[in-house]
Amino acid sequence: MAVTGAQIIARTLRDLGVTVIFGIVGIPVVEIAEEAINLGIRFIAFRNEQACSYAASVYGFMTGQPGVCLVVGGPGVLHALAGARNATTNNFPLLILAGSAETTGVTKGSFQELDAISLLTPHTKFAVRPSSLDFIPGAIKNAFRTCWYGRPGSTFVDLPADIIQGKASPGFQLPEPENIYVASPPKSSGDPALILKAAQLLRSARAPLLILGKGAAYARAEQVIGQLVERTQIPFLPTPMGKGIIPDAHPLNVSSARSAALKNADVVLVLGARLNWILHFGEPPKWSPTAKIIQVDIAAEEIGRNAGNAELGIVGDINLVVEQLLVTLSNWRYSTTSQFPKLLAESAKKNEAKAQKAALMPTPRSPDAFLTYQRAYHIIKTTLNSLSPSSSSEEGNIVYVSEGANTMDISRSIFPLSQPRHRLDAGTYATMGVGMGYIIAAHEAYNTPVGTIANGKPKKIVALEGDSAFGFSAMEIETMARYRIPALIFVMNNSGIYHGDTKTEDAWKVLQEQTVANDTKSSGSSAASGNEKRGLRSTSLLYETRYEMLATMCGGKGYFVRSEEELERATREGFQNDVPTVVNVIIEPGVGKTIQFAWQGKDNKEGQAK
Ligand code: ADP
Ligand code: MG
Repeated sequence: MAVTGAQIIARTLRDLGVTVIFGIVGIPVVEIAEEAINLGIRFIAFRNEQACSYAASVYGFMTGQPGVCLVVGGPGVLHALAGARNATTNNFPLLILAGSAETTGVTKGSFQELDAISLLTPHTKFAVRPSSLDFIPGAIKNAFRTCWYGRPGSTFVDLPADIIQGKASPGFQLPEPENIYVASPPKSSGDPALILKAAQLLRSARAPLLILGKGAAYARAEQVIGQLVERTQIPFLPTPMGKGIIPDAHPLNVSSARSAALKNADVVLVLGARLNWILHFGEPPKWSPTAKIIQVDIAAEEIGRNAGNAELGIVGDINLVVEQLLVTLSNWRYSTTSQFPKLLAESAKKNEAKAQKAALMPTPRSPDAFLTYQRAYHIIKTTLNSLSPSSSSEEGNIVYVSEGANTMDISRSIFPLSQPRHRLDAGTYATMGVGMGYIIAAHEAYNTPVGTIANGKPKKIVALEGDSAFGFSAMEIETMARYRIPALIFVMNNSGIYHGDTKTEDAWKVLQEQTVANDTKSSGSSAASGNEKRGLRSTSLLYETRYEMLATMCGGKGYFVRSEEELERATREGFQNDVPTVVNVIIEPGVGKTIQFAWQGKDNKEGQAK
């Protein structure tokens, strides 16, 4: 019997070594998914293409191999576009396969018709449509190779219905698996003359600093970077997703003196991090105007993109370049007689004391008192640690997922990491809504038998989600329940985006009344200054939504938490639950990062909270 396009697609994926596909089926891609399952590939069926495209992208980051996503055409592709762009912007390897209208139906107004190639081209490294069944293996292989080789990103294969459902011509031969196989990306080392210069710069530095980015985590360069730090004793600063390349507890980690480190460093070796908004573009006022920056990156176009301070750019794989540096630096070590370490230590001490104070401040025992982020995180952290020291984050048995403005920013410095690729957040694109997909991907990567990096020891996935961020993909909790993913999800609920709106339910209801009655006009003379606001603000969500019920509706466990005791108990039980668990933590509305909107008058107290 002649093979079908769907069979050729599934066989090609298997021969490429794909073990899991994240997707949503429909006509006609359901045939591809079914053939893939028959070949032993796991198919994780999601509820929205955005979430599965995010999941597949971060699976690529964690495993170091392309994540694969399968969606229907038209609207399915539009939703998955979110993941395509997220992967390209974060440099995660992602292959997206999508169905599309019959080749003969194009321009006729066919079922889910969309010019997907034109849509995806600017957001992917490569977008292709095989012109016939014969070209399926070559097209998929090249898309798989291209998303992975060079600087990682997304690629796209458009699969018309007649190709998926068609039968191969009688003479068609499936390629031998060894002709499909794609070896790991080749690596290059740095220009030896530049390595020499970099070593000279580091040796002459008064205040050297290493920055460890998620490119170094993706490169799995933890071993050589660990050697570099031990040997040279240069202080290091991880980026949010570079955390854990070297354990946070390392004495040379200057995260808690981040501003002082950036401001005072005179030579900065940047390993796998772009000088983008996350690093303040490598420019003053956050960086010293005289700092000399040495960039190490796999992508030549990244060198010198922003930093007026860019001194040197080494193009090459971090593993090889750092090895070269180790050889060239030989036994040189940074002299600790410089003022820089002292300055960093002082700044760290001050910041840590401040954080400690917020963490230890007990929540007043009164019905109208709220938990703060800092206090809630402190309780969650100490409870996780006390449960079983070997389960604690320090041991690397927890994978953290975090998103939301304050929720993510404040949690970053509180939960320590000891291993790379164990903290997934909104990333370079500051994408809200990635959390649920990332949880499922982390489970697939770390906890399933086919997961590329599973080592038999299950990891607990702990998510710290803002209430707004959680809402983007909250229905994926059903996906988690279906695959029995026992994630522990904390929803930090301040009833809104950023700082939410009002502190009390009664005040919130007044605003709701005004909005519903369409009675939001300001009145009186104070209106001009914006001091009298009426109606719900754009940052407002329903007051104290019962998000934990999303877990219980599908057989998971839910906890509604207001007090320290309730939070401790929910954390303890939630960690041990074998079903998805949502802990709905009511947090004080109006606290967190200060965002002053124009409508908030200077003397508007409520406006200043936040
Ligand atoms: P962060 O968000 O941690 O600041 P970015 O995503 O901005 O990190 O930057 C990561 C950088 O790492 C990208 O510019 C990417 O090209 C680079 N990169 C990825 N893999 C490697 C590798 N193996 N060797 C060198 N650079 C790499
Ligand atoms: Mg919120």
